[in-house]
Amino acid sequence: MNTVSQRRYQDVAAELRELIRTEGFQTGDRLLTERQIALRLDVGRSLVRDAIIMLEVEGLVQVRQGSGVYLLGATQRQPDLTVDDIGPFELLEARMVLESAVAGLAAATVTKADIIAMREALDEERRCISAGDNDYQGDRRFHLLIAEATQNGVLVKLVADLWDRRDKSRMWAQLHSRIFDDTYRNCWLDDHRAILDALRARDSQRSQQAMRHHLSNVSATLMQLSDADDPAFDGFLFPTARTSQAFQSPAADRPSLGRNTKGDRS
Ligand SMILES: [Zn+2]
Repeated sequence: MNTVSQRRYQDVAAELRELIRTEGFQTGDRLLTERQIALRLDVGRSLVRDAIIMLEVEGLVQVRQGSGVYLLGATQRQPDLTVDDIGPFELLEARMVLESAVAGLAAATVTKADIIAMREALDEERRCISAGDNDYQGDRRFHLLIAEATQNGVLVKLVADLWDRRDKSRMWAQLHSRIFDDTYRNCWLDDHRAILDALRARDSQRSQQAMRHHLSNVSATLMQLSDADDPAFDGFLFPTARTSQAFQSPAADRPSLGRNTKGDRS
């Protein structure tokens, strides 16, 4: 079965490969910034980020934090069909839709025993964070317990499936390997506490909103922490060979579009 084009970010990766070829980029060249690519291909930045992570897993490009994305090998190489992950940002978007609805539903059916188990999961998460442990079992358990609290086996299976895909994903591992700041985990723990509070109050709307807020926080933070672009470099459309010339051009000539770190698709 042909797996290419099943996912939107894979189409973007194919367009990007074509762009690299037609623009004549050579090994070692710095590519366009993510924002420039998003503008050129008319797609959202989270989709471009997923596509770049895929090309990185394939070994075509190297992402250097704060510097940019560099071409590693020949552009004629064939796409790696074994990379059939869900894109990390695609995955987070799906989780946002599914898990916020799940949290809203769980608020109506959650039991005291569920709440106690959720609190224990958060204790485990807190211990892992203070120990500097790179373990997300408490996080995973908390989200699964919310699904279980709905008493709907289909929803439990769907939520567990998305977590399994995340845990097995080469692209997710690649994204995380670029992130060295761990402080965001405490913010996510605060998000979890807010979700637990809303569930304990059996407030369906607040539970739903708290989960949506949490996963949009996760997505925005991962977008921000994995941003490879050099801020001084952002804004030039044809960086290779013209970079030095472009750096001398007046700032007023540059596109005035603001930087978007939220990863939206608008
Ligand atoms: Zn979480």
